[in-house]
Amino acid sequence: MRKAMTWLGIFKKGRRRPATAYLVHKEAARSLIVPRVQFFAQQFGITYRRIAIRNTRRSWGSCSEKGNLNFSYKLLFFPPCLRDYVIVHELCHRLVLNHSPAFWSALTSRLLDARERARTLRQFERTHYPSLSALRQLLASHQKCEKCTAIIYDNSTSDF
Ligand SMILES: [Zn+2]
Ligand SMILES: [Zn+2]
Repeated sequence: MRKAMTWLGIFKKGRRRPATAYLVHKEAARSLIVPRVQFFAQQFGITYRRIAIRNTRRSWGSCSEKGNLNFSYKLLFFPPCLRDYVIVHELCHRLVLNHSPAFWSALTSRLLDARERARTLRQFERTHYPSLSALRQLLASHQKCEKCTAIIYDNSTSDF
């Protein structure tokens, strides 16, 4: 049986990447993403079942019908403002499991500039293959981003 999944960030032309980077960065990604998901889930009163950090090739995140959230380990290399976007996007799929106007309304009422962040991410996807080096460039380009600098993490990853 095919599970209904919602996908964020679909790349049409994928090529295989070594799993090494995933194994190296998986736990760091988990320790960054999980508290942030918990933070927003609590703030918005949204529940979920469990979080998995995966080496996804076609999405940054997904949410299953049962309420399991999956995130790409590559979110570790995301600018914080775009990482938050992906996290809040997937959490809002707990409310609406598609990309209908109801979903966008749920999302933009919680993250006011969600559409702008979605555009930025889509633009990046269109112009770059999402390699780690491209993501590092994207991260560097957000060094003076006010939204990014406003985001304070308990477990800082300032070494990226
Ligand atoms: Zn989605
Ligand atoms: Zn930013």
